[in-house]
Amino acid sequence: MRLTRDMQAVVVGLGKSGIAAVRYLSHQGLSVKVSEYRQQNELGPDEMQVVEQYCLDLETGGHSQEFFASADLVVVSPGVPLDLPVLQDAGARSVPVVGELALAAGRVSVPVIAVTGSNGKTTVTSLIGHLLRTAGKKVFVGGNIGTPFLEYLLAPDDADLVVLELSSFQLQRAGKFRPDIGLLLNISADHLDWHGSMAAYVTAKKQLFRFQLPTDSAIVGNDDTMARDITTRATVTTFGSGSACRARVSAHGVLVQPGFGSSGRPEKYDLNDTLLQSRVNMYNAAAAVLAARSYGCCQEDIKQGLASYQPPEHRMTPVADIKGVAFVNDSKATNVGAVNAALSGFSAPVVLIAGGREKGGNFSQLKDVVKRHVKHLILIGEAADALAAALGPVVPTERATDMCEAVTLALAAAEPGDTVLLAPACASFDMFADYGERGRVFCRCVEDLKIREEALE
Ligand code: ADP
Repeated sequence: MRLTRDMQAVVVGLGKSGIAAVRYLSHQGLSVKVSEYRQQNELGPDEMQVVEQYCLDLETGGHSQEFFASADLVVVSPGVPLDLPVLQDAGARSVPVVGELALAAGRVSVPVIAVTGSNGKTTVTSLIGHLLRTAGKKVFVGGNIGTPFLEYLLAPDDADLVVLELSSFQLQRAGKFRPDIGLLLNISADHLDWHGSMAAYVTAKKQLFRFQLPTDSAIVGNDDTMARDITTRATVTTFGSGSACRARVSAHGVLVQPGFGSSGRPEKYDLNDTLLQSRVNMYNAAAAVLAARSYGCCQEDIKQGLASYQPPEHRMTPVADIKGVAFVNDSKATNVGAVNAALSGFSAPVVLIAGGREKGGNFSQLKDVVKRHVKHLILIGEAADALAAALGPVVPTERATDMCEAVTLALAAAEPGDTVLLAPACASFDMFADYGERGRVFCRCVEDLKIREEALE
């Protein structure tokens, strides 16, 4: 996309990503205005500072047609609904309406690895970054996590490559963005309240591969029927449980078929002694190993990186053991797909704590996995009724009014050898500030219960 100094841009929505867009466009010489849904007194100091320093004009409390009338370009932050009348009106006047990826397309001089999927993005993105750093590469890791991509473009350091986590929101307005290596981990229902339909969500995810070249790589999860069916000109490699996968997940780790220019023998990556030993994380490791191998890292560096990797918190994180019962915090499991994947990895019975604010997924899809793995279900939050209606017929169900009560009831329902898993299948905002607070409260309740139980012994 051509940017010229005589253009006027309107940035819709501030936040981290909008701030980066304002700064980037101003540095390119465009005049920039900001249209923001929130009231001015709700903007943070970082947001006000960027407005004062770079903006010609600011409208708050909504978006008006007049404010957009002279725009040559509209740049939208992720999460701003595409059906806003001002955006539709701009589109009808052939004014480009784009996101940060479209602005960045064609402007990055180093290779780009981009990761998307319904679940596992943060883990895989950070793991790829870690594997490459272990191999001695200088890596910028950002996008949907940490630093926005445009901040990197504002001051491209001497990074050897860029690794990005991308959400469906970002991909929906990605223009001609093209990663050298693109990963689609899985697709399950998430954010349907925003995208409107599963078809729109899937289309957004697959946008990742649309402009790839035959020299690029596409890495996809083969066990996921929706994810594996992609259209791309890139070379496709797969990971999953099937023997035809390039990276196969086994009981102990990942087996990669030969073909990355080494000895011709399969490559074995043992994960049992690493923090990636949950089934879910073995899949993530398989995807990350393929990306690192496609980029050219050697096996030894990758093995070292897998051994030293610390997964992010609230994702299948072991918390404590009370009377032989393991407590695991998967507070980030905010959708049905994540809960399904988490439960499938257990061989021992699970007492599941679930509930929160619904996100538009279908809880009935958990029936089979709950029947196979869950012996008791404790429900919290607004979605308790909907979860009880969907899963009550297949598992004994109880309600708790808060997290500590849920944890106490869960221990009472468990026996030594069982696992109590917090995997809510819902957003947290009905009871907590975010999934991080929910996870921390869970950990605190578990620790308190442990102290009480030990005092009784
Ligand atoms: P994202 O960035 O896509 O939200 P995270 O790495 O933060 O992904 O993990 C989010 C949730 O998904 C966690 O509950 C985690 O345990 C679960 N998860 C991680 N990897 C996978 C996977 N490959 N398949 C299904 N669920 C996963």
